[in-house]
Amino acid sequence: MKIQFYNSLTGKKEEFVPLVAKEAKIYCCGVTVYDLCHLGHARGAINFDVLRAFLKAEGYKVTFVKNYTDIDDKIIARAQESGQPWAALTEAMIEAHDQDMAALGVFPPDIAPKATQHIAEIIHMISDLLAKGFAYAAGGDIFFRVRSFLEYGKLSGKNLDDLISGSRVEVNEVKEDALDFALWKKAKPGEPSWQSPFGEGRPGWHIECSAMAKKYLGTHFDLHLGGSDLIFPHHENEIAQSECCHQEAFVNYWLHNGMVKIDAHKMSKSLGNFFTIRELLEKYHPELIRYFVLSSQYRAAVNFSEEAVERGLEGLDRLYGALFKVEGETGSKPGRLGPQSDVAKAYHQRFMEALADDLNTPMALAVLFEIAKDLNKGELGAEGYWLLHDLSRILGLLEDQPAHWFKSERIKTLKTGDLSNTQIEELIAQRLAARLSKNWAQADQLRDQLSNAGILLIDRDGTTQWQRK
Ligand SMILES: [Zn+2]
Repeated sequence: MKIQFYNSLTGKKEEFVPLVAKEAKIYCCGVTVYDLCHLGHARGAINFDVLRAFLKAEGYKVTFVKNYTDIDDKIIARAQESGQPWAALTEAMIEAHDQDMAALGVFPPDIAPKATQHIAEIIHMISDLLAKGFAYAAGGDIFFRVRSFLEYGKLSGKNLDDLISGSRVEVNEVKEDALDFALWKKAKPGEPSWQSPFGEGRPGWHIECSAMAKKYLGTHFDLHLGGSDLIFPHHENEIAQSECCHQEAFVNYWLHNGMVKIDAHKMSKSLGNFFTIRELLEKYHPELIRYFVLSSQYRAAVNFSEEAVERGLEGLDRLYGALFKVEGETGSKPGRLGPQSDVAKAYHQRFMEALADDLNTPMALAVLFEIAKDLNKGELGAEGYWLLHDLSRILGLLEDQPAHWFKSERIKTLKTGDLSNTQIEELIAQRLAARLSKNWAQADQLRDQLSNAGILLIDRDGTTQWQRK
């Protein structure tokens, strides 16, 4: 079957031709582990989980690498704010990430490297770039010389001169050129650091991914995945480092998933419209979250609203209902049967073709509904049952027992309007921080916000307790 992906590098849909027949080597940028994962992380993870399952179903041998960025400015800042050691913070967030992904039914990566366990590989790559003249030392840091890579900007379509006039370039007096970015950052007091031939310090974010991808997938591999917010500068910089270091193409296909908006606004902590995966799972069955994500093609912009997630219940009930019609309360499955009839074979073909067309999950879901409709009419029988069952599993749906699904609480009603326990505690922590910095207006505003949501605060001995009114 001809598989096509939209390749951000060429700006068009292209046939996927792996470097080695029937093998797919994939690197996916993982999370920076300083906080809990949110809905945006869930979207990328679920889409790319389906990509991987689809390639496997098509008979590919898949190697899927997804890293943890466990050293970064944000991690250091968060550890300092919260007064905990940075390694304890990253360890806790990695564990939370893994739990969240498992709860969403995301298959774990084949390899999940941590940046801090690859310092030797990172140093080796920086040394190589220095030796080849693509990097230089200045003020104790090592920078990548962006103008030495003539193809810089080929992924994002950015032009170097536009970048300079734009405000996205960090001003730093020691750099040869404002565009240059750090490969190695000199140690600062109180920050984690490692020994290196360039002095004590820590790696920059971009070089970590280049070095880990090289170690596990080689210098040239098939697919690189990530959110569209990573195209510039992160992925642009990964290409520059890797291609200068190895003097060959780095990645053949770059796939980027679109962003999630909340009720038509950009999702951000400061706007207070930020949902962690945990908060969503407090309210929704994980398959409702998967269904919501897969109802849009991975590149499209998606608008999250509670109504949109809740609308998915009708769809999932319909699919489970078709399996239930065959199984009944006893849950007795018919004998396993592959697609035999021309009708069943055509459904199978259309489902796989939908995913082969740049992972068109809404189209694939539409095929499942057609199968369910036939099953409900008493057509297709056992082959239809297994077809619906097996194809849904590629999307990570219908994993529950149908009889159990209908008895479970798929949408939990939280006791208080809009706020989950996690959100309440987050707001209380923000109020405490506002009080400590004597920002009384903000502290009062947060108290009012909680009060309007039916939460009563009790301040006692420097701590705040809460109860639902
Ligand atoms: Zn990365």
